[in-house]
Amino acid sequence: MVGKDKYTLFFDLLLVEKMSREARDFGLTVIVGPMFSGKTTELLRLLTRYKMAGYTVALLKPSIDKRYSEREVVSHDGLKMEALAVEPNYSGLEEALRKLEDVEVIGIDELQFFEPDMKIVELILRVSLEKRVFVAALNLDFRGEPWEVVKELLPRADDVVSLQAVCTYVDPKTGKRCGAPATRTQRLIDGKPAPRDAPRILIGGRESYEPRCRRHHEIS
Ligand code: ADP
Ligand code: MG
Repeated sequence: MVGKDKYTLFFDLLLVEKMSREARDFGLTVIVGPMFSGKTTELLRLLTRYKMAGYTVALLKPSIDKRYSEREVVSHDGLKMEALAVEPNYSGLEEALRKLEDVEVIGIDELQFFEPDMKIVELILRVSLEKRVFVAALNLDFRGEPWEVVKELLPRADDVVSLQAVCTYVDPKTGKRCGAPATRTQRLIDGKPAPRDAPRILIGGRESYEPRCRRHHEIS
């Protein structure tokens, strides 16, 4: 250390601190659950913590999700964070991640809308060896079937956060709401269960979807 003034030493220390932080922090967390279970809220909470700790953070979302905003991710409670909309396929994600090479923490919301391509799974696993990655995704589609990318990524993640909503089914006889933990996303058309052959992807909010428990999840 001979010959270094205290300012140089200070910057050396900052560099060492930054390097050890980068080396230490990597891995993949997948946050899953039905709609309204708090996936986006949790994703934004985690990313905000990293921002507060001085990490560089970026949030990505599939460009087909234009609910609320094109350049932000917005939770059902109105929490917001600026986001980059990417084409929901391998090249869209790969290009975005390449541009964000120096960013330390990456969030991806609504992963289920990405194409069912194993290359996307491999890309996320590879990137999360170098940096911290948080992914939020629906567990199942409206029919109760898994989404391919989510199904493949989930068991390979370092950590899984499984969230439940509250079942909103109302018993027509008693008028009472079920209130059980909801693990399914009910699609409704004019208040009635959507048919099995309806398109898999239909971007919507409260008007077309509600969280339900397994007992009250219906397909017509
Ligand atoms: P997700 O990303 O999983 O769709 P959000 O994080 O955007 O969920 O929103 C979660 C919020 O939705 C909750 O904090 C709650 O205020 C609200 N919410 C509305 N209806 C329900 C419900 N039936 N069960 C749970 N949360 C609900
Ligand atoms: Mg969400």
